[in-house]
Amino acid sequence: MRICKSCNAGFEATDSDQRFYKKMDVPEPHYCPACRNQFRLSFRNERALYKRKCDLSGKSIISFYSPFSPYKVAAQDVWWCDQFDAMSYARDYDFSRPFFEQFKDLMKAVPHMAMIVSHGENSEYCPYSVYYKNSYMCVSGVVGQNIMYSYWTNDSRDCTDCYACSGCELCYECVECVSLYNSIFCKDSHHSSNLAFCVDCDGCKNCIGCFGLKNKEYYVFNQKVTKEEFDRQMAELRSDRGKLNEMMSRLKAHVLKFPQRDLHKVNTENSTGDYLINCRNARDCFLSFGLEDCAYCWNIPQGARDCADINYSPKAELVYNSMSAVNAYNGICNVFCWDVKDVSYSVESFYSNDLYGCVGIKRGKYCILNKQYSKEDYFSLRTKIVESMKKAGEWGEFFPTSLSPFAYNETIAQDFYPLNREEALARGWQWTDEELPLPKVEKIIPASRLPDAVTAIPDDVLNWAIQCEVTDRPFKIISQELKFYRTQHLPLPRRHPDQRYQDRLAWLNPRKLYNRNCDKCQRAIQTTYSPDRPEIVYCEQCNLKEVY
Ligand SMILES: [Zn+2]
Ligand SMILES: [Zn+2]
Repeated sequence: MRICKSCNAGFEATDSDQRFYKKMDVPEPHYCPACRNQFRLSFRNERALYKRKCDLSGKSIISFYSPFSPYKVAAQDVWWCDQFDAMSYARDYDFSRPFFEQFKDLMKAVPHMAMIVSHGENSEYCPYSVYYKNSYMCVSGVVGQNIMYSYWTNDSRDCTDCYACSGCELCYECVECVSLYNSIFCKDSHHSSNLAFCVDCDGCKNCIGCFGLKNKEYYVFNQKVTKEEFDRQMAELRSDRGKLNEMMSRLKAHVLKFPQRDLHKVNTENSTGDYLINCRNARDCFLSFGLEDCAYCWNIPQGARDCADINYSPKAELVYNSMSAVNAYNGICNVFCWDVKDVSYSVESFYSNDLYGCVGIKRGKYCILNKQYSKEDYFSLRTKIVESMKKAGEWGEFFPTSLSPFAYNETIAQDFYPLNREEALARGWQWTDEELPLPKVEKIIPASRLPDAVTAIPDDVLNWAIQCEVTDRPFKIISQELKFYRTQHLPLPRRHPDQRYQDRLAWLNPRKLYNRNCDKCQRAIQTTYSPDRPEIVYCEQCNLKEVY
């Protein structure tokens, strides 16, 4: 049993962990899996976006970095042009100073990509999205069109306020759904259409408030109804925000009557963790596709093999302790590096191999702290640096959070490992008290004064801001969004987009495994339902026997 140097929790490096560490030539980590994840997430800002100037071109841009950030930023197109050469910030390695201190200096010197949108079209507010078109305020999706306020929504179109959905169309407020059409407020439902407030339904059509149904049509709260009755209820439901809220409460109570699956896994073997699709030998992994022999991974689309402690790193192999190491091979501790091989301790470097401690390198080879070396000199210096980091107990550990270019409360670490201002500052981490600017509008109206029926909303609403019913933060409706609510016959939201995002997170189970016993056969299981929760939880085998 090891004791985490950050939170003092006991943790175990399993046999397969040890084999992996040996393969990667790293010692057992000083921190527990949760703290390691927290450190990585503290390098990812997804939701605090600012208007500011590009430090290289002077043009106005949207950025992850506030105008007051001490870090320099470049608009994405400027960053990629030949005039910007990160090698001009090259420096010698100084063995009298710690590696991380020298790396911090380099991070402060080299301009960072202001925003990261890959192959986007009219989607400038969609950080980390790839092939997104005509979309607004989305994060991290791969291939999407007309998507608004959604997270990690892939191969989808015309969806608003969704979280981790794939292959969906015309969906609203759906979470962790696959191939859903024209549905609202659904969770864990697959290959279905025209559902509202359904959980764990598969191959269904025209259902409201149902749990666990397979291939059913015209059901309301798991009871068969006529088409007329269904149509009446669906029309009534969509017209009124109060009814939607009431239905959510009814659904949550209804779900408690049924045994829940211990973990959500599809076509997955010998794995622990939640929301895994097509995985093999994945341990303690969450929301990932196609993992093979991996541990402690979060949000991996499109597969990874032989990796540990990675986030948002599709197609990675032999990668350890990294964030957004995309199509990376054999590396440790990288942040936002794409198409890299044998690259370690580097940030924002692309199409490169054999880099160590670099920032902002494009198509580079044999560089340390952005300085070019010959092949022989590179390997001999790298070996010496690794030796000194091993002696200092730094080798294998992720960058300290104090090196993150973002304030802790700007990053997604705050979503999963929340701290208050004092706690963050006491650890030497950055914190921001900066308020995001309020929308410039003619008037702000309280959410409670919004008419319920979308037909009663005038076009003029685009010139107002609505005051969030929970946080009082005003937010605007954009015209694309108003059109969506009108065609979908949905009332306008009464909560700020950030609050809606928090509400969806709260509907999901935590990304944490608890030990419990199956409520039917008493077998010991691992599940994301903590033992004090009210749900009935069955093991996989007992669940398979349940048919509705
Ligand atoms: Zn810990
Ligand atoms: Zn059981």
